[in-house]
Amino acid sequence: MATSNPFFDDIRSTSDVDPPQNEELLDVSELVDDHSQRPLKPNVSVSSSVCELLECPVCLNAMYPPIHQCSNGHTLCSGCKPRVHNRCPTCRHELGNIRCLALEKIAASLELPCKYQNYGCIGIHPYYSKLKHESQCAYRPYNCPYAGSECNVVGDIPYLVSHLKDDHKVDMHNGSTFNHRYVKSNPQEVENATWMLTVFSCFGQCFCLHFEAFQLGMAPVYIAFLRFMGDDNEAKNYSYSLEVGGNGRKMMWQGVPRSIRDSHRKVRDSFDGLIIQRNMALFFSGGDRKELKLRVTGRIWKEQ
Ligand SMILES: [Zn+2]
Ligand SMILES: [Zn+2]
Ligand SMILES: [Zn+2]
Ligand SMILES: [Zn+2]
Repeated sequence: MATSNPFFDDIRSTSDVDPPQNEELLDVSELVDDHSQRPLKPNVSVSSSVCELLECPVCLNAMYPPIHQCSNGHTLCSGCKPRVHNRCPTCRHELGNIRCLALEKIAASLELPCKYQNYGCIGIHPYYSKLKHESQCAYRPYNCPYAGSECNVVGDIPYLVSHLKDDHKVDMHNGSTFNHRYVKSNPQEVENATWMLTVFSCFGQCFCLHFEAFQLGMAPVYIAFLRFMGDDNEAKNYSYSLEVGGNGRKMMWQGVPRSIRDSHRKVRDSFDGLIIQRNMALFFSGGDRKELKLRVTGRIWKEQ
């Protein structure tokens, strides 16, 4: 899908950076005996072998009920069970339909730190609710906000800012106002993967300004929008405006930046930004419609 056509002053670059390791932090755990007493100190370290027992030997994920076992006692997660054709993957014996209640109960008694502990989360969670917490944990790393390539890098905001700068060669600007020119020599070529990203830093935060061309139904259009490098609840504290015009006409957009938790594609496909029809874009460009020359100005401010 990605095009090899450079768009505007293209800032694409390849990146072979390995994503930071997100190790499952399963080595600190607590065994509670079954008298429904909560532990006073949940941080007591027990042998990591309990956690290893809870790792499915096939997919290596943590197992959740129903946990299955073969007649020899080898365990298997419920996701993998239908895929092993009733043969225990460890001993090849028939698997049958035996549940491993003992292991399920041991799992229920475990309390484990959030796997984003090394990102700053201090939460300790019962084994069975840990996954849910982690899917919403405020400390969970962000995906790289760079559009137009499949980049798998994840990290916290400071890490991603330097990643954008160093590995994607993204333009960085200080300040809350901007005045950008987008120039494309052959505006007849509009493809899905034409886009541009600039990062602005102001109010001690970072914002991603996206500009891209895409197909809206049959019509090629351009869209500009802002994303906030942080969580949604904080993004709501900011507003931004965008303006584009020429030949005595002007279009304006005012919006709220979207969190980079929302992918750029999701934001684009919800049209949450300044949308410029191609005809209008060429009109704004003036001249002979052979070249796209858009000037986008804008401002970010903090709501009181
Ligand atoms: Zn499995
Ligand atoms: Zn077996
Ligand atoms: Zn957490
Ligand atoms: Zn990236």
